[in-house]
Amino acid sequence: MNLILLGAPGTGKGTLAAGIRNAIGIAHVSTGDMFRHNIKDGTPLGKEASGYIAHGELVPDSLTIRMLEERLQRDDCRKGFLLDGYPRTIAQADALAAFLTGVGQKIDAVLDIRLADATIQERLSGRRVCPSCGSSYNLAARPPKKPGICDTCGTALEHREDDRPETIAVRLMAYHEKTRPLEDYYAARGLLHAYDNEVGSEITLQSILKALGTLGAASRP
Ligand code: ADP
Ligand code: ZN
Repeated sequence: MNLILLGAPGTGKGTLAAGIRNAIGIAHVSTGDMFRHNIKDGTPLGKEASGYIAHGELVPDSLTIRMLEERLQRDDCRKGFLLDGYPRTIAQADALAAFLTGVGQKIDAVLDIRLADATIQERLSGRRVCPSCGSSYNLAARPPKKPGICDTCGTALEHREDDRPETIAVRLMAYHEKTRPLEDYYAARGLLHAYDNEVGSEITLQSILKALGTLGAASRP
């Protein structure tokens, strides 16, 4: 099964992605994580992307599309993949559709995760992430057991540079302007499933897994 997780920054996509991956065993492909690894390793791609990311702007399509297509050709994507943070523009969505058609595949569903902007601001400014295993915490709602330390792997947690209030506002603007139109794009193709994540990620995950079970059953010959 090939899935897309759509949604503004801070809507809980990372947490939901981990839950979906654990439940159905498909590859989790996060373009944000891929960029951050490249920046940390000082690769040419990381150097090109880092300025955009630090300012909360989208990385140019050409760079992002190339990186994603390389990733989708890796072996672990053969059993299906979950795209987290991609596509973020209509051009990326068109490129993805063309790429998948070329390899005889398609997107099975787009999960659109929704949350009010005010809740997003609140969640992102309190967000702390584990640079090692990707676990995400919130100082108010979901603090780690030991302050500043990842429950899962013991690594020191980080406050992402782009989770500062000024940068969050830029990211939300980029989302509304460039990414939101993808809701209509995928709705028109009959692929959009929307979830209001104000109920919390655990409940949303259960709704998603239930819907995916139904989809999987429906697509079986
Ligand atoms: P969030 O969803 O919390 O904003 P991500 O980790 O998905 O964070 O992305 C972090 C940053 O990486 C984005 O603000 C953007 O600069 C860049 N980025 C990630 N995915 C894409 C993409 N598909 N297109 C362009 N830029 C991207
Ligand atoms: Zn960790």
